[in-house]
Amino acid sequence: MYFGLTFGRKVLLKKADVWLRCMCSVSKNDIKPLEYIRNIGISAHIDSGKTTLTERILYYTGKISKMHEVKGKDNVGATMDSMELERQRGITIQSAATYTIWKDHNINIIDTPGHVDFTVEVERALRVLDGAVLVLCAVGGVQSQTLTVNRQMKRYNVPCLAFINKLDRLGANPFKVLDNMRSKLGHNAAFLQLPIGKESNVKGIVDLIHRKAIYFNGDFGDIIEYGEIPEDMKNQVEEKRMELIEHVSNVDEILGEMFLEEKTPSEKEIKEAIRRTCIKKQFTPVLLGTALKNKGVQPLLDAVLSYLPNPGEVENYALKETDNGKTEKVLLNSSRNGSHPFIALAFKLEAGRFGQLTYMRCYQGKLSKGDTIYNFRTSKKVRLSRLVRLHADQMEDVDEIYAGDIFALFGVDCASGDTFILDRRLNISLESIFVPDPVVSMSINPVNTKDRDNFSKAIARFTKEDPTFRFQYDSDNKESIVSGMGELHLEIYAQRMQKEYNCPVNLGKPKVAFRETLVSPFEFDYFHKKQHGGQGQYARVIGILEPLPPNENTNLDFVDETSGPNVPKQFIPGIIKGFKMMAEKGLYSGHRISGVRMRLLDGAHHIVDSSELAFILATQGAIKQAYEEAAWQILEPIMEVEVVVPTEFQGPVMGQFNKRSGIISGSEGTADWVTIYAEVPLNSMFGYAGELRSLTQGKGEFSMDYVRYSPTTPETQEKVVMNYLESTGQLQAYLDAKKSSNKNL
Ligand code: GDP
Repeated sequence: MYFGLTFGRKVLLKKADVWLRCMCSVSKNDIKPLEYIRNIGISAHIDSGKTTLTERILYYTGKISKMHEVKGKDNVGATMDSMELERQRGITIQSAATYTIWKDHNINIIDTPGHVDFTVEVERALRVLDGAVLVLCAVGGVQSQTLTVNRQMKRYNVPCLAFINKLDRLGANPFKVLDNMRSKLGHNAAFLQLPIGKESNVKGIVDLIHRKAIYFNGDFGDIIEYGEIPEDMKNQVEEKRMELIEHVSNVDEILGEMFLEEKTPSEKEIKEAIRRTCIKKQFTPVLLGTALKNKGVQPLLDAVLSYLPNPGEVENYALKETDNGKTEKVLLNSSRNGSHPFIALAFKLEAGRFGQLTYMRCYQGKLSKGDTIYNFRTSKKVRLSRLVRLHADQMEDVDEIYAGDIFALFGVDCASGDTFILDRRLNISLESIFVPDPVVSMSINPVNTKDRDNFSKAIARFTKEDPTFRFQYDSDNKESIVSGMGELHLEIYAQRMQKEYNCPVNLGKPKVAFRETLVSPFEFDYFHKKQHGGQGQYARVIGILEPLPPNENTNLDFVDETSGPNVPKQFIPGIIKGFKMMAEKGLYSGHRISGVRMRLLDGAHHIVDSSELAFILATQGAIKQAYEEAAWQILEPIMEVEVVVPTEFQGPVMGQFNKRSGIISGSEGTADWVTIYAEVPLNSMFGYAGELRSLTQGKGEFSMDYVRYSPTTPETQEKVVMNYLESTGQLQAYLDAKKSSNKNL
């Protein structure tokens, strides 16, 4: 049987593939060898043309028969933009997985949003990708979100190709963009192509490796013609070809040796070296084109096949729990022979026109229609009546999927980031997607009370789809609060509520999501007793509240260390409930408590008068006691900010960070550009974009990512606490108390 045999060469694999299809009458797509699979993402700064490029790819690969311009005259919008709002804005907010076929290879494209506020979407997409295309605008070059996605690609070790788009635009300068990539992004990058003609006169491109001119003829550039290199470009082509070989030789041993020995590498040798170094993320091939004018897209697809890794060339790990309660990393086997246990990751949920869809990537093994799979986290089982593959508005049923495939399921109840397995005993889960804590919150209310139902439905769906979008009801202020990764993140959801749920909402001002935490351990002993009249209440809790280490300061922890019968086990849930209820809203500034562990050491109960409620109240009393007697501090989200500016602005930009209580963590650069890294409280970052623009005459770019929560400065703490006291009408009493305690001193 074909399974289990190892064929070294593609041609053999292909033959085996055809043979197997005849034998098993399974559709060809389902059993393609790994070499014929690519899982790629397209990442870019907004407006670089990612959506247009994706649409062109779908057109050339035969998945769509028509092309539309984003926000084009026909008002239809590109195929990937299926949401109404995206049509309006022309930006892609949600990633959708789509698969297509190019030269017999399955390419799964995960469309990734570019805006910094949707980084969790990008993070999710990058987690399941093996390679990416970084789209840059030939005019704009490296822009703020390019920095963000570049950093994310590094975090997830994603090899990439660069595509410099919009060659046709006035002021297009791919040479400057390449310089930018080297100086601002730190890529060892070189052109694989050169443009023929400039701006609106761009006629085609030259392939440097094969020394060929490529022209894109016909109405939609689908007729490719090859020709000689224009006479006036010959010198430039040789020069840039040499530059390419040099850049690759610097990081590739084989080509490097040939270079030193002054041997001329063949085209094949150059391509192999590019593939090796691109996969190792040591070299970034740069391709050119204009998606809108239908030039350069097919060679880009060829490059995806030639240089980006197949799923078998990427190492993926899962986490296995060992007997001593620790976890160890297990290397997964991406072989498509189906002999390893099935494991897949749900990386995106989407409630769309097809109903509830869950996008998954299979990392190991095989799944067939009719199988029953288990959600590792919840242990819930699901029988699969359908397996599908999608592109934005079409879907294709498949019977089987294998390691490396991206697919979707219907009606599965799960959260994004959940692991699915076929064998319930398999004690293994995929690393969870990095999900940052929400850092900004706003009040939210439906404009019309009659829309309450729709409001709840929308909230339920969005919070399920997006783990960084959260909802809570603040019962003190009687307002609903949403929190997320940035202002725009929350605004987009507000707009979607109106568009998709017919429920217009009002959003309040953005507020930083501060937290409250204990400074040092506090021993509590609280006795809640009410034993006269009616049902009595009797509960005593004794223990220690202590701060968690800084790297766990967004968590809450409870440990039951009691021994003996003083606190019967049935009351422990009540104590946990009381602790969690108090943690919703700290007494110091009204923000959530985090970074605290409650250790219950002892207590007391009464055979008749103790109840869950009594223990809830006793626990709440203990925490109030901690507020009266112990020291607390405010934590705030710290952002990692990356700024790229012309060198002359280095001093002023650093000065700005100092003013904003930032800490410069490093800088690097070339003669012209410098990248400055700093950690700055989010609270000081409002309005930064405008300030940077005016300080650098619009030349500076920045991006930021949440890193952690840290204690605020005493000034910020004072301000946060005062604002809270004022808003709750307690300020005067506080000031009076402070005055009299000073007097008493
Ligand atoms: P995205 O935000 O990166 O998805 O970018 P879009 O694909 O939505 O494109 C943004 C705008 O740039 C749209 O108006 C496109 O028509 C336009 N655009 C895309 N590619 C090109 C190109 O190659 N040349 C020019 N001149 N415009 C382009």
